[in-house]
This record gives sequence, C-alpha cells and structure tokens, in this order.
Amino acid sequence: MAERLKNYVGGRWKASETERYQEVRDPAKNEVLSEVPFSTKNEVDEVVEEAKRAFEDWRNVSVTERVEPLFKFVQVLKDEKEDVARTLTREHGKAYDPALGELERTIQMIEGACATLESNKGDFTENISSGIDEYTVMRPLGVFATIAPFNFPAMVPWWYAPWAVAVGDTFVLKASEQCPMTQQKIFELIDSELDLPDGVINLINGGKKVGEELITHPDVEGITFVGSTKVGKKIYSQAAQHGKRVQCQTGANNYLVVMPDADLESIMPNMMNSCFGNAGQRCLAGSIVLGVGDVYEDLKESFIEHAKELDVNNGLKEGTDMGPVVSKDSLERLHSDIEQGLEEGAELLLDGRDIEVEDHPEGYFLGPTIFEAEKGMKIFDEEVFGPVVCLDRTEDLEGAVEMINDDRYGNAATIYTEKGGAAREFRNGVKIGNVGVNLGVVAPMSYYPFGGMKDSFFGDLHGQGTDIVNFFADRQVVIRRWMEK
Ligand code: NAD
Repeated sequence: MAERLKNYVGGRWKASETERYQEVRDPAKNEVLSEVPFSTKNEVDEVVEEAKRAFEDWRNVSVTERVEPLFKFVQVLKDEKEDVARTLTREHGKAYDPALGELERTIQMIEGACATLESNKGDFTENISSGIDEYTVMRPLGVFATIAPFNFPAMVPWWYAPWAVAVGDTFVLKASEQCPMTQQKIFELIDSELDLPDGVINLINGGKKVGEELITHPDVEGITFVGSTKVGKKIYSQAAQHGKRVQCQTGANNYLVVMPDADLESIMPNMMNSCFGNAGQRCLAGSIVLGVGDVYEDLKESFIEHAKELDVNNGLKEGTDMGPVVSKDSLERLHSDIEQGLEEGAELLLDGRDIEVEDHPEGYFLGPTIFEAEKGMKIFDEEVFGPVVCLDRTEDLEGAVEMINDDRYGNAATIYTEKGGAAREFRNGVKIGNVGVNLGVVAPMSYYPFGGMKDSFFGDLHGQGTDIVNFFADRQVVIRRWMEK
C-alpha cells in the first residue's frame, strides 16, 4: 500500500482517523506516490487547540529567540533543497531546475522573515499633551491558518509561516491536497532539526472541508489563502463574516506586451519561460501575448518557432523545459478549454494535444499550445492555467493598456521595450499589482509585498514583507502619564 501522509500536530506526527484518502500521483507517469488524508473535524479542532495552547508561551518568548529557529532553518533547507526539490518534481511535475529555484525562493522568504525584528516595532511620541506620551505596541494575535494552492507546493506556505512565527503568532498550514508531499518533507526537517516549542507550527492535510473548518473556527484569528478566484472570493466573505483577518491572493490572466522596438531574439527565452515554464501553472505566467503595431507578424512567427523547440518531458530528466500538468482532471479541463476556443472561432496555431513523450505514455502532458484569439472568447478572457497562450495585436500602447484594464484580473503584466517613456506610460496606466519591464515573471522578493489587484486579490495587506508583519500583528495604542515626578 502507498504511504499514508500524516498530520504534524503539537510537535508530533499523527495518523489521521479519517476513512477518506486521496491518491497523490506522479503526473509524469500516472503512478501512485502516496495517499493524503481528508482530516476530520476533531483533528481540525485538535490542531487549532494545540496552536492556541502554544501561543500563550510563544507570544512572550523574546523577539530574538523567535527568529533563531528561522536562521537555522535557512541552513537546513540549503543543505536539503535537492532532496525536497526531487519530491516536488515527482508530485507536481515541474522540471527539476525550476523546482530547485522554488526551494531557493522558499529560503529567501525565511531569510526575509529574519528581518522581522526591524519591521515589527512600535512607535513612540513624547508629550502628545504636556507630560503625556503615546505609543504603540505590535502585539501578536493568536492562531493563523494558511490555505495553500497546488502550484508552488514548497514556496507559497512560506510566504506566511516564517513571519507568523517571528511575530509571535502560531501557525497552521493546510497544504494542497493535490501536492501535499513537499510540505511533508519540509515539516520532517522542522521536526528533526529545529528546537521550536510544540504547537508553534502545525500541518494538517485535507481539502475544501478542512479549509472551511479552519476559516470558521472561533479560535483562528486570521486566514491567508492562495488559490483560484472563485474560491478566494468565497473565503474572503466567509472569513469576514466570522470576524477574521483575511487576505486572498487569487487567479490571473497576465499580458505580455511587445513594443515595435523590442529585440525579439533576445526577449524570446524570457517569454517562453513566462508562458510555458511550470507548464503555465503560475499565477505570474504570461497567457496573452500582445504585439503592438507592426511587430505582430514577426512576433507570431518567432513565438511559434521558439515554442516548438521546447523539450517536454519528465521533469526529472535533464534538459526538460516543461513537465506535465498536475493531474488528469487538469489535462481534461485544458483539452475542453481548447475545444471551446476552437468552437468560439479562435485559430489554433500550435496544437500541443497530440504530444507523445517517450517512455511516458500515461503522463498528463500537453505540449505548448498557441491560439490567435481575441477578447470575448473564453480562452482569452479566463485564466487557463496551463501551457496555452493567446496571441493578439493592438494598434498602439494605449490600446494595450486599455485591453489590460478591461480584464477582470490584475495580477501581472509585462512590457518588452527599451524605451523608458513607453515603459513608464505602461506602468502608470495599468491597474496591475506586479508590473514587469522586459521580465515576464514578476515575482516580488520577500521584502516587497506580493501585488495583486481586481479579481486577483481580496484584502488590503498583501503577502510578504512589512505588509504581512502588519497582517499578523495588531497595534495596541497606549496613552500614559505618571502622576509622580
Ligand atoms: P484552488 O482554489 O482550487 O485551491 C486552493 C486551496 O483551497 C486548496 O488547498 C484547496 O483544498 C482549498 N479549497 C478549495 N475550496 C475551498 C473552500 N470552499 N474553502 C476552503 N478551502 C478551499 O486553487 P489551486 O487549483 O490549488 O491553485 C491554482 C490557483 O491558484 C490559480 O487560480 C492560480 O492563479 C492561483 N494562484 C494565485 C497566486 C497569487 O499569488 N495570486 C499564487 C499561486 C496560485
């Protein structure tokens, strides 16, 4: 029987008592790797209880002691990243080099959170009135939970976990049920290598139901969610109704705008990575490529030629540019989206559906797929989340900005140009959270917030950086005077 994954609760590994398990499959081979439990309501209560108990002591541990385990964990992950990246590739499908890159990003998040000492300070004003001072204290709030997506199984939970711990909160992660093994590995390292008090950081497996139980639990102070817009929108209102702090980073439909002056040969590798890296399953992936003015025909030709060159294979094979998509369901949905695109009149310029990968007849592979399409078609307007790209053109930059602002999503957009004035006009004009200039994957560093606007983000404070410190801590205001001199 395949290994059954466990929960990490109050510093101990515990098998779930549920009868419901879901298989975790290697998408390159369609082979079972493990089984993930859909944990029970009692188990959700227990994990929150453990985190709540741990909070009472953890909030009073000195600020330097709270970040010490994070400094150590940076080194632990540096030593173990290759092993974790292999697990990540096996359960998710992404090529090994990007998986390793994801681990490096995860480490950077923890390094960023080591600077919480600096960003988690209060203010002080002497003599707001004669002899009276006012100050603020950054107070941790309690138990926070993160509900994570499948597409960055290592990194996304660590947009939150290290800051919550550093601020003095305690933390419960619900990993994605589609790719839960990577965090299992990471938590094994926490368990064996870190001297953290029991219950400060916890892992519970499950799906939608466990997520809902965390959101509505009276002892959970706040929720961070990363996932689809449909679910994020629902969670945002559900959490607010229960009086929680909440932020939801959600879906995307990202534009890559190519100006007439752009040097196509030099930007193409970057565009390929944006559109087809991680098999397009990135909230920062380019999904619409807009040629401005007369660059369009050359752009189209070059884009198709470069996409044909990509090596699609098992992510563990050296030289693979693009692995399979995450699941059979996902592959079937993409096939159906492509069919609908054709029915709506989009022209298929490159069809990845018939791809055959040697020795992997059962894998969930879709080759790079390129449409010429336009606004109003579902394949153009909705998040596809796979290696499928739509090409279109606009007369001028103004038209491109207008089209982007008309889109329901606002996660990322990139302009390719060497003209500073055009880049500035673009940046200033677009209602987009993460803007790229000649960079097609606009992934903010740990000490900047992860942007997102419109249907790509629900909340006010974002993930990462000082935003997340302010999300995890509250400002207590004190006004004081002493009667005696
Ligand atoms: P998803 O919305 O299907 O699931 C995300 C998580 O929510 C999973 O852990 C799932 O178990 C849980 N969940 C599902 N329904 C729930 C409910 N009703 N209540 C509580 N929890 C629930 O997303 P996914 O398919 O795992 O991830 C892909 C999506 O994530 C894409 O839309 C992508 O754009 C988005 N994403 C966004 C960002 C960002 O920063 N904006 C980053 C990564 C991924």
